[in-house]
Amino acid sequence: MQTPPRVLTVAGSDSGGGAGIQADLKTMLALGVHGMSVLTAVTAQNSQGVQGAWELPVEAVEAQYRSVVDDIGVQAVKTGMLASAPLVSAVAGLLAGIGVPVVVDPVGVSKHGDPLLAASALDSVRTELLPLATVATPNLDEVAQLTGIEVRDESGMRRAADAVLAFGPRWALIKGGHLDGDAVDLLTDGAAEHWLRAPRLDNRHTHGTGCTLASAVASGLAKGLSVPDAVGGAKEYVTGAIAAGFALGTGIGPVDHGW
Ligand code: PLP
Repeated sequence: MQTPPRVLTVAGSDSGGGAGIQADLKTMLALGVHGMSVLTAVTAQNSQGVQGAWELPVEAVEAQYRSVVDDIGVQAVKTGMLASAPLVSAVAGLLAGIGVPVVVDPVGVSKHGDPLLAASALDSVRTELLPLATVATPNLDEVAQLTGIEVRDESGMRRAADAVLAFGPRWALIKGGHLDGDAVDLLTDGAAEHWLRAPRLDNRHTHGTGCTLASAVASGLAKGLSVPDAVGGAKEYVTGAIAAGFALGTGIGPVDHGW
């Protein structure tokens, strides 16, 4: 057996299994890479929302990371829920100079409106984490939090991308799924511009969409794909996973990775 590409997610746990590291590892399995996890926080969570969240100590995060990179090694990293300013700074410190692609999903607030990042951590995300990103994948709520820009249309997405790129990531993937009409995302490095379109799917079971997309991008990059090819493949993967999303509990169910 050949050793598959290895991808590390640095993210929070969703006890309901739909988002966070659970979504990340399922995506990685489905895409044929070996997934590993550095847990930053534990959430008590289900289809109704987040009932509780506890962050791990910085030393626990650093120790998990060292264990993985010192022995196993990584070909790409994805970051998700980082919870607090000290954790954002610690993760940025670990990833500085890592020399492999880093996908930063600047997770702020869940679809149910539960905060997954302290407001006091936003500056660290802007100045310490985003400059390390190969690709940053904010949704429109996260764009508003990070840049103050309220996007209403595709020209707003262009302005948002420029504002996100000003923080230093090589590429910005602005996810316009919260706008009306087709699910349109914009990928740009400031020179090339790729618009990714998928029809809006009539399925409310979309929990874990953002985690899944970012993990699929990291998986593609670990396999050696270019950023546009990795993002194009990830968009296809997440569109299939949303189409297959299923009811769970009494609220919003997860996207499905077995389609
Ligand atoms: N829980 C965790 C641990 C997450 O990382 C995220 C998103 O990144 C969510 C919940 C929110 O998922 P969604 O907004 O898709 O419901």
